[in-house]
Amino acid sequence: MTVDHELQQTHCGSPHSCCLLLLLLAVTHIGCQATPRTTFSTSPPDRHLFSGDGFAIHSDVPLRPDDPIVKQLAETRLTVTNRLKLQEQRDPIDVYLFSDEVSYRNFLRVRWPALPSRRAYFMQTSKQLAVYSFVSSRVLSDLRHEFTHGILHASCSHVPLWLDEGLAEYFETATDLDNRRSQQHLDELLLAEQEGWSPGMFRLEMIAEFSAFSARDYAEAWAWTHFLLNGSREGQAVLLKYIADLRDATVAPGFLQRLEKAVPTYAGDLWDHLHSLRRDSNAAL
Ligand SMILES: [Zn+2]
Repeated sequence: MTVDHELQQTHCGSPHSCCLLLLLLAVTHIGCQATPRTTFSTSPPDRHLFSGDGFAIHSDVPLRPDDPIVKQLAETRLTVTNRLKLQEQRDPIDVYLFSDEVSYRNFLRVRWPALPSRRAYFMQTSKQLAVYSFVSSRVLSDLRHEFTHGILHASCSHVPLWLDEGLAEYFETATDLDNRRSQQHLDELLLAEQEGWSPGMFRLEMIAEFSAFSARDYAEAWAWTHFLLNGSREGQAVLLKYIADLRDATVAPGFLQRLEKAVPTYAGDLWDHLHSLRRDSNAAL
């Protein structure tokens, strides 16, 4: 069986975030001390292994315990686990950190040629939970996103796509921004509102393939997640219970019915929440 056939689930960061300019700033933002080298290898990085609590980092340059990447992964694991009241991880997460973009893209092109071009990926196979990315100025937020996928899948048997991406987008935001507000998603949704668009959990729950998930879907998934965790006590309770039920679920149960029962005014409440975030955003300017 090839690796392609083993691939069970794939998740990736926001599809429109790659920026050539940012690549020129690589390395200065992160803790790796060695000069990145292009490996042109079709194998994942394997020269150095850092073993953390619940994860391992495979890289071509050594990483010290106080490296920002190591600290970020450990902090993200604690934050996600505590915030979502997750039970203990069943499986470790392997993080493959390429030292440069060319090597990363070369590896992905050979291993999974059909995958769209993204800066980072989370891959779940029958044998492994793995994150793939490369050193760049965006590596910390990229890893927060993909590593959140890993933590969820290490703790839950099933995670519906909308929640998987919503939580990854939520925890991707910098940890010092306590309310996890994403200005990019907020702008996207408020512009959509002017165009007559409305969020719909029923539609979002129906999307099963990440390749069908649009930029607006990512924004909407973030919005629901943000509303449920930050905007409604009843919403937070129903979400945390739902996540607890996913641990041993053979299939992910529907969420909308639970939400309708716990928060009957959820549709209007979501817009109220987004508008309050916009007021907070404007006040901060
Ligand atoms: Zn993702």
